[in-house]
Amino acid sequence: MIPLTEIAYGKANISHRIGSQGGRGIVVINVSQKCPLKCVYCYSSSSREGTELEEDMIDKVVHEIASISPRLVIVSGGEPLLYRNIDYLLYKLSINNIRTVISSNGLFIDENTVKMLREYNIDYVGISLDIPSGADSKIRVGSSFEKIREALIQLRKSDVDVGIRMTLTWANLYVLEDMLRFCHRYDIHRLCIYHLAPSGRGSEVYRLLKPSTEIEALALAYLIKILRTYRDIDVLTVTEPSDYISAALLSSFCKRELEEKIERFSRRSKCNAGRSIVSIYPDLSVYPCQFDNRNKIGSLRTEPLRKIMERRLEQDCCRGCRLWELCRGCRLRLGEDNIDEDCTLRALYKLARVGRLRIEDWKVRFLEDVLAMD
Ligand code: SF4
Ligand code: SF4
Repeated sequence: MIPLTEIAYGKANISHRIGSQGGRGIVVINVSQKCPLKCVYCYSSSSREGTELEEDMIDKVVHEIASISPRLVIVSGGEPLLYRNIDYLLYKLSINNIRTVISSNGLFIDENTVKMLREYNIDYVGISLDIPSGADSKIRVGSSFEKIREALIQLRKSDVDVGIRMTLTWANLYVLEDMLRFCHRYDIHRLCIYHLAPSGRGSEVYRLLKPSTEIEALALAYLIKILRTYRDIDVLTVTEPSDYISAALLSSFCKRELEEKIERFSRRSKCNAGRSIVSIYPDLSVYPCQFDNRNKIGSLRTEPLRKIMERRLEQDCCRGCRLWELCRGCRLRLGEDNIDEDCTLRALYKLARVGRLRIEDWKVRFLEDVLAMD
């Protein structure tokens, strides 16, 4: 995850409490692929009929996770709060002292759910919302803005931190500032902006819905500018590691500051798929990250998690880029020339070259040098 607010303004409000530091990696458990919504880009292709983690596998999964002492577990889905054994799973994670957060569509949160979350020490819930109005249901088919708004109020009233998870598409590019205002109004201090991932149903609509990389790079530049006014909100982007270098570039006043930021934020921001992130599916298959469900790296049915994570995931991309070790690109977006096609840093360079983005000459020279571009 790329902590834009922190990179640009040196400030984090709640992100440091949500597993950005300490421990040994992040494990996502997709407990169920059942969900009543039909988001057009759902990376896990969830539906009403999806499969669930079997009840008698919960102890095994938690045991495996505990054995690697992760810094964070994200319970996701499908919709995890509809998983019929969610209380037992959360109980097992809590007695093993595993820091856990929930990723939800926000439609099934009421007083009782909040009570259960508090009981099992869940103090952060990420809720999906693409547009802060009824228009949200146009893309997240079946969603209800009113129910989500009530859930947010309920959670904040009970002192549970909330983050909004927003997937960036042509349909919501125009609401970025509205979303920040919405967060501010409802006392929400975290906004995670996901670049559309070409996974699951997302691969079917990828070309259609994903803004061009140049537009995403301009959106990033715009965000960094307006974040000055919304410093009470941690804004992060997800699934494009080059964003952190772009953010560092756009917010630095000299080369030394830029190099220091790249060094400082690399560990948290570069792609760690299969190294310190793994994702477990209901059938116990293990994948390198939450969005990569094509390249299975093992199964808990046959191997311990520790062993699966010890095998280093081979990733060979962005040859020629001098920042590769510090970034590693996104393996989901490898183009034919073996480069992350959605690299926002490369897009910034192209925009600067044609005069659509004004950046200082030293930044252009820096980009020419590291990206080996002419
Ligand atoms: S070319 Fe690849 S490694 Fe280099 S900055 Fe872009 S995404 Fe990262
Ligand atoms: S492959 Fe890496 S950069 Fe891409 S979504 Fe997965 S963890 Fe993020």
